[in-house]
Amino acid sequence: MCKRVLVLIGAILTTALMQGAVVQVPTYDLILRNGRIVDGSGSPWYRGDVAIRGDTIVRIAPSITESATRIIDAGGEVVAPGFIDIHSHAREGIFEVPAAENYIRQGVTTVIEGPDGSSPLPIADFLARLDALQKTINIGTFVGQGSVRTAVMGLVDRKPTVDELVKMRTLVEQGMKDGAFGLSSGLFYVPGTFTSTDEVVELAKVAARFGGIYISHMRDEASRVVDSVKETVEIGERGGLPTQLTHHKIIGVGNWGRSIETLKLVDEARKRGVDATIDEYPYTASSTSIGAALLPAWAQEGGREKVVERLRDPGVRADIKSEVVRSIQNERGGGDPKNVVLARCDWNQSLSGKNLAEVTRIRGMEPTIANAAEAAMWIVEQGNCSGIFHAIAEEDLRRILRHPATMIASDGGIPVFGKANPHPRNYGTFARVLAVYVRDLNTLTLEEAVRKMSSFPAQRLGLTDRGFLRPGLRADLAVFDPARVRDAATFGKPHQYAEGFSTVIVNGRVVLDNGTMLPARPGRVLYHGR
Ligand SMILES: [Zn+2]
Repeated sequence: MCKRVLVLIGAILTTALMQGAVVQVPTYDLILRNGRIVDGSGSPWYRGDVAIRGDTIVRIAPSITESATRIIDAGGEVVAPGFIDIHSHAREGIFEVPAAENYIRQGVTTVIEGPDGSSPLPIADFLARLDALQKTINIGTFVGQGSVRTAVMGLVDRKPTVDELVKMRTLVEQGMKDGAFGLSSGLFYVPGTFTSTDEVVELAKVAARFGGIYISHMRDEASRVVDSVKETVEIGERGGLPTQLTHHKIIGVGNWGRSIETLKLVDEARKRGVDATIDEYPYTASSTSIGAALLPAWAQEGGREKVVERLRDPGVRADIKSEVVRSIQNERGGGDPKNVVLARCDWNQSLSGKNLAEVTRIRGMEPTIANAAEAAMWIVEQGNCSGIFHAIAEEDLRRILRHPATMIASDGGIPVFGKANPHPRNYGTFARVLAVYVRDLNTLTLEEAVRKMSSFPAQRLGLTDRGFLRPGLRADLAVFDPARVRDAATFGKPHQYAEGFSTVIVNGRVVLDNGTMLPARPGRVLYHGR
């Protein structure tokens, strides 16, 4: 009896084990089948399947027939590494919009914050907050020279003391230890504009010790753009680190064509061993605040209260006005008040989308450049607005884009859908390059464009585990139809998602599924050197 029961139990166990063997664990978590694989290297595409386990690409082969928890048929669409945006203002929106749909729908899976010399400090606290946030996209940061200087000295126009320089070096060092990818500067902005080349070099040397890069919104992108490129190269050379001209552009009709000179400077630098590179967004308009773009730097010293005080003094106001006139005439204003469009005015949202000529009329004046300067100063007095400035030539844009040392970056952020009138680069940058400059104009091959969006920025950042489709790398992928991909966002109607991306995968998790956003939040904080 007792023996028989044991035999029975044994039989049940054997059956259970055999059934267990029948219900096999799938070999892979996910297989993407029938892709046109553009692997990020710039090499021509090839047909293949990609297998993913956990957060990692484990196999790429012409045909993968093993089992998987999920199989997605790419149907001959392009399978590319997820795009990496090396110049992003994502911190403004990511806490409000952690899905970052504007980025995901362009195939972007990683964004790098802290550009233009501006980053939160300490970096560790910022990254801890991001780490605690459930987000869809990967994010990392630079440490900002302007933020470091402001923390130590405020917004003053003077040299630092020896003690202040030591403090600034320590803050950069701490930022790098906390995981920043390098030092960013915005030498066009206050207080970057008050910073000498030597001072930046001293801080760049600190970032260099940690293997970081230097990335700069240069001192001037208009009449002195050539000097600014020289300075950016010099900082890389003397600082001993890779240097990058960020959102490279040539502003102002009188300066158009000078990308020939600036690119030559980059080529010469590279020839003599300076690791200088470029990033660019594919639009002929820029975006920043009206005050920063049109007022002279000296008028902005000390911050908002000081600016308003200066504008109240009739003599000083006249001096400021003459420089605003010059800016509208020759620089960001593009020679016509119509070329300046207000993007976001928190103090009067009805002004969003209006151009400076219209605002001048609303103020009861004819829209001459002198009157538009008055309107611009009035805007700054009221609380400032962000603006869009149409003052870049298509020919310079394409020349810079074609350069092999140029990568794609948006300079955008994560807008709240439907709010204000932001630059379309927020929604369209990567899709626009693929649609306009690859498919329509043949400025770039598909493979070259993908390289500029994936492996090139990854290499620049030292992200050795992303940016290519290769077994062993993190599974960040973007699938799109090269015939249908397009940016829908325009200057008039910016809140429109890019089209043509069907599937986007972040750290092995599908976040865009056959065109539908999923609630998955697999995004991670990326730390330099970890
Ligand atoms: Zn910038």
